[in-house]
Amino acid sequence: MSTKQSTKRNAKVSSKKSARKSTKKSTRVSTRKTKAAAAPKSARAPKRTAAKAATKAMPVASASEFMAHAYAMEAEAAERYAEFADSMEMHNNHEVAELFRKLSRIEQRHADQILEQMGWKQSPVSSADYRWEGTEGPETADPTELHYLMQPYHALQIALHNEKRARDFFAHLAKVATNGGVRKGALEMREEEAEHVRLIEEWLKRTPVPGSNWETDQDPPVLSD
Ligand code: ZN
Repeated sequence: MSTKQSTKRNAKVSSKKSARKSTKKSTRVSTRKTKAAAAPKSARAPKRTAAKAATKAMPVASASEFMAHAYAMEAEAAERYAEFADSMEMHNNHEVAELFRKLSRIEQRHADQILEQMGWKQSPVSSADYRWEGTEGPETADPTELHYLMQPYHALQIALHNEKRARDFFAHLAKVATNGGVRKGALEMREEEAEHVRLIEEWLKRTPVPGSNWETDQDPPVLSD
């Protein structure tokens, strides 16, 4: 299926672009000194309630609702991985950047596959309805806003968390799907997402764990001469 899909990717560039645009709002690579991880719990945005509600509603959702959610999930992943890749390039970590580029292409292909499978020209819902979670869970204040000192380890942790979430979503979808085609698609997606989990776990084994002071700039901007 994937070779067939990849030949069609070029034809989808325009829809891909508009999908990417709609998720751009708050997700840009930030060079500001954000302290997302240290943000107080009270400051956490209620942003993720939509995704949460979708998860809760899962057992009664229709096939097209599931697939709309799946599409949003894949589009979000493609978008985030592209950003992670840019961020790693900025840090001259080309190896990890390459990993994220590859994952971005795969997730975009998944998104395209879902559109094709459902006969949709575009997603019926905004991909803003689905957001990646930070490693601290769904309530973390915009954890995916990239810290300017973020290291490969952090990006991989966030990716791992969300790949597991995607894998579990498709596992659940496969379980509750009444439509054979949807179930088959969900099983394939589950396998691929499980493979991403394994891939990222492998990378994490080779990635140094940052010290507790990673947020401290070792080379802060100097104002005097
Ligand atoms: Zn994945």
